[in-house]
Amino acid sequence: MTANRALQSSFSVGRRDLARTATGRWKTGESPSVVSLRQAESEGNPKVHLDGISLSYRTNDGKSLLALDNIQLKVHPGEFLCIVGPSGCGKSTLLHLIAGLQQPTSGRILMDNKPVTAPGTDRILIFQELGLFPWLKVGENVEFGMKMKGVPKAERQERVDYYLRLVHLSQFRDSYTHQLSGGMRQRVALARALATEPDVLLMDEPFAALDAQTRDLLHDELERLWAETGRTIIFVTHNVREAIRLGDRVALISFRPGKVKREYHVDLPRPRQLEDVSVALCAREILDDLREEINKSLAEQYGDKELQA
Ligand code: ADP
Ligand code: MG
Repeated sequence: MTANRALQSSFSVGRRDLARTATGRWKTGESPSVVSLRQAESEGNPKVHLDGISLSYRTNDGKSLLALDNIQLKVHPGEFLCIVGPSGCGKSTLLHLIAGLQQPTSGRILMDNKPVTAPGTDRILIFQELGLFPWLKVGENVEFGMKMKGVPKAERQERVDYYLRLVHLSQFRDSYTHQLSGGMRQRVALARALATEPDVLLMDEPFAALDAQTRDLLHDELERLWAETGRTIIFVTHNVREAIRLGDRVALISFRPGKVKREYHVDLPRPRQLEDVSVALCAREILDDLREEINKSLAEQYGDKELQA
C-alpha cells in the first residue's frame, strides 16, 4: 500500500448534506459535521482487502496475459469506492475475484479478515445485463435471491415489501419486468440485491446503457440507498464524472497489466450532481491521468505505437 499511498490525491473538503450517524449510516439534511473519511479509514479493519492480487489469463494462442498485477486495495466498511480505468484494464475481473467467481493467480482477498474462496451471500454482483427473470413478477424477482439463501417465507414477504418501498416500486410488485422501463428494471435488480442483505455490493458499470436522465435519477437513488442501508459499495465505471458523483474514493487502474495507478479521495459535499463545477474540476484531474492509460489501450487495439508517446 505504501506505493499507492504516495500516489493519493485529495479533493477539497466542503459541507456535506448527507451526514453519517453514529451507527455508520447517513441521513439527509443533518448538520455538516461528519466523520472525516481519512480518519474513519485509519480505524478498524477493512471490509474487503485485496492483498497483492495478480491474475493471468491463458489466451487462445496459449500465451499468458497478465491482467492484474499486484493490486493492493483496502475497502472500508460503509465506503463507496469507485474503480475507473480504460476498457480491458481488468475492472470486471477484479469484481469477479471479490465475488469469488474466479481465483487470483497469486495474492489474497480478505473479507472481514477471512479469505474469500468462493461466492458468498455477503457479496453480491450487479451488472449491466441485470439477470432478471422475465417469467417472474417484480416481487418474485426480488424474492428469488432470498429463496436461494433459505430465508423463511414470512420474512421474504416482509423484505420484498420493504425493499420495493425503498426503490419506490411497491405498486409494480405484480408486474412483469418487460412492463417496466430500463431505469425501473435497474431498481428491481437493486432491490433484489439489497433484499439478500449482503455486506458488499459489487456493481459493474450498472448504468452504462441508460439514458442520461434515468442515470441521474439512479445516482440519486443509489446514494440514498447507500446512506439508508450503510452498505459497502464497490462501483466500476469508465465514466470519471460518475465516479466522482458517487464515490468517497476513486481508484484508477492502469492499462495492462492492471495496477492501482492512483487513488483519489473525494471530499466534496453530498449529494453531488454530475454537472456540478466542483465535480467537473475533480474529473479533469483524473481524466488527465486516465487519458494516458486510454492511449495505451487504443495503441494496443489499433497497433499505433505513436499513441503511446
Ligand atoms: P474491463 O472490465 O476493465 O474492460 P476485463 O476484466 O473484462 O476488463 O478484462 C481484462 C483483460 O483480461 C482484457 O484484456 C480481457 O481481454 C482479458 N480477459 C478477460 N476475461 C478473459 C478470459 N476469460 N480469458 C482470457 N482473457 C480474458
Ligand atoms: Mg468490464
